[in-house]
Amino acid sequence: MLYIGKEHVTDNLSPHNPPAARCRSGETVVFQTRDCYDDRLHADGTVDHPELALENPATGPLYIEEAAPDDVLKVKIEKIDLNPTGLMRASTSAGAFCDLVEYRKVRQFDLTGGWVEFTDRLRFPVDTMIGVIGTAPRTDTVMTHTPGAHGGNMDCNKIVAGSTLYLPVNVPGALLSMGDLHALMGDGEVMICGLETGGEVTVTVEVIKGFPMPTPALACRGSFYSIQSANTLDQASRLASRAMLQFLQQTTPMDVYDCAMLLSLKGDLSVCQIVDPQLTVRMGIQQSILDAYGVTLP
Ligand code: CA
Ligand code: CA
Repeated sequence: MLYIGKEHVTDNLSPHNPPAARCRSGETVVFQTRDCYDDRLHADGTVDHPELALENPATGPLYIEEAAPDDVLKVKIEKIDLNPTGLMRASTSAGAFCDLVEYRKVRQFDLTGGWVEFTDRLRFPVDTMIGVIGTAPRTDTVMTHTPGAHGGNMDCNKIVAGSTLYLPVNVPGALLSMGDLHALMGDGEVMICGLETGGEVTVTVEVIKGFPMPTPALACRGSFYSIQSANTLDQASRLASRAMLQFLQQTTPMDVYDCAMLLSLKGDLSVCQIVDPQLTVRMGIQQSILDAYGVTLP
């Protein structure tokens, strides 16, 4: 199986990044990823060579031979294997609580048992997600800490093993990269970190041609989501809702009024994150709504 080691790392998603590896549509590939601290943060708070640290680094990019601009790249998340430990660090400069934070407290958690032992009274099952995953934008170079129409740092806690992500193909080969694994993260990522760790992500990539997918889009646990990022949550909410509205118009016989009423009744609008340079929101519907119209996701 094709394996892309974490030495193939970047802090940006760009049409100019040379491929770390090439594959065919339908192949399964493993990405080994660094944590968001570039694997340099220790449990005692020290950082190895901070001057060299990449912020939210991603492994890649992977060039998929059949991918051409305006196709959709289907990324099936097969499996995520985590490092044995993960870290969190309080931020004094960003996030919802930075005015309350006086120092950069660091906590390390053991991940080997499948549970996060938060306190002696609180433990939570690990629910691993991918924070940064995206293709190259068409012309721009976008830093990996910024989400956008190409994906990137969406920090959507539904991007988990078993889910399928649909990303736009903007350049030949798509140039897929990923990193920033979280063993656990709440909606919002309000203190600007999840339970940050590295690991190995196994994905199957497939090029989809001629299907009107509202990218970035995600199928996860019986729901289908459009994911959008913008300067404000208001803008992102509107973009995500409209992307889903347009998808329903394109794939069902319902008109704009019925699609809008349907989303007003059954849409599941949720915040992914409020802490990155663009803010991210998802609009979800139950897949049973698509099933009722015989809409099968590719
Ligand atoms: Ca992130
Ligand atoms: Ca992170």
